[in-house]
Amino acid sequence: MINADRALRIILGAVPPPGRETVDLRDASGRTAAEHIVADRDIPPFRNSSMDGYAVRHAELKGASPGRPVTLTVAGESSAGNPFTGRMGKGEAIRIMTGGKLPSGADAVVPVEKTNEKSPRAVTFDAPARKGDFVRLPGEDIPRGHRVIAKGELLTPYHAGILAATGHAKVRVSVRPRVGILATGDELVGPGRTPGEGKIRNSSSYALLGLVKEAGARARLLGIVRDRKKSIRKKIREGLAFDVLLMTGGVSVGAHDYVGEALRRAGVDIRFWRVNIRPGSPLLFGVADGTLVFGLPGNPVSTAVTFLQFVRPALGKMLGRNDLFPVRVRAFTDEPLRVKDGKKSYMRGIVREENGVLRVKTTGSQSSGVMTSLLRANCLILIPEGTVAVSGGSPVEIEFLNDPF
Ligand code: AMP
Ligand code: MG
Repeated sequence: MINADRALRIILGAVPPPGRETVDLRDASGRTAAEHIVADRDIPPFRNSSMDGYAVRHAELKGASPGRPVTLTVAGESSAGNPFTGRMGKGEAIRIMTGGKLPSGADAVVPVEKTNEKSPRAVTFDAPARKGDFVRLPGEDIPRGHRVIAKGELLTPYHAGILAATGHAKVRVSVRPRVGILATGDELVGPGRTPGEGKIRNSSSYALLGLVKEAGARARLLGIVRDRKKSIRKKIREGLAFDVLLMTGGVSVGAHDYVGEALRRAGVDIRFWRVNIRPGSPLLFGVADGTLVFGLPGNPVSTAVTFLQFVRPALGKMLGRNDLFPVRVRAFTDEPLRVKDGKKSYMRGIVREENGVLRVKTTGSQSSGVMTSLLRANCLILIPEGTVAVSGGSPVEIEFLNDPF
């Protein structure tokens, strides 16, 4: 039995470097940048107004007050996309709209609400302006040549916007690993079926499907295979066509747990079996011709937790992501926590903020058969290996579920 850190090192050490492909910007969200993205021009590209108002020379409004207003001649207009091309002369103002290019000669903008529009040709100011007021400078957001997106970053909708602004209609991204999901167990039937006596519905495959997609990979359900050595082996061969094969169930020490043996006989090099964690200790990992194979335990909670802790970082690395792990923070436990046999534990918790402090409680029963513990949880409480008890009120480490990092 190895510990969680060692298991993770073995897994990450077996991950091949990511492939790359070019996608249209429309399909960029959710993908991973495969190269640094550099701005091809200043953003904003020119001096422009952040308000609707008048472009002025600030020196000409010096000393303006309600008692001694200053009147300027409106010499033209600059709206977004339609700049005033001339030079603003002495005693002149240019009517300007948000995003409009600042005419040469102007050095400040006065918002329209602070002016008195005497006529279409004259505008009056009763307060001074400061140089640069309401003026957006070139490159103030992103200077030309600046790296706006680093290789390995998850591309969010905001990234897509920046990519568009910096002239990237297409983008190099890493290839999404293809993940096959295979459930094993004589007891399993599909979700649309009525289970007969002693049978249950296959739930883990569907949870994994979503988890794989959320992790940025492509998922395919390979169905259910019965607890028969030959059938399992046959299905494993099918599964080895994928970049990652996720199997559930049949990896423990029960009389019908054939997955380990079937994998070995299908030519998979088993790198470890069993990890000192709770839940999920029967976890198995192997490699065959470029396919990473995970034998995840069958209990739905164990399946999900081992996916989050071991498969998701592997998928992240396959995608070339910079961040493989969610942020961990400290919270204070409301209740005493007990862990049998000091295994590293991942308890399902509900965290909340109280007066600036995070407080956490468990979702109740931590049995790995209790699926609803994950439904109600918003975090995992991490109990280090070797700890058997944590007293109420003590700090613990937590990891948010649904942290897209
Ligand atoms: P196993 O890991 O095969 O010993 O299964 C452990 C427990 O998880 C048993 O109660 C199984 O019935 C259950 N189980 C196994 N696979 C699934 C699955 N795909 N969906 C829901 N429950 C499962
Ligand atoms: Mg089974």
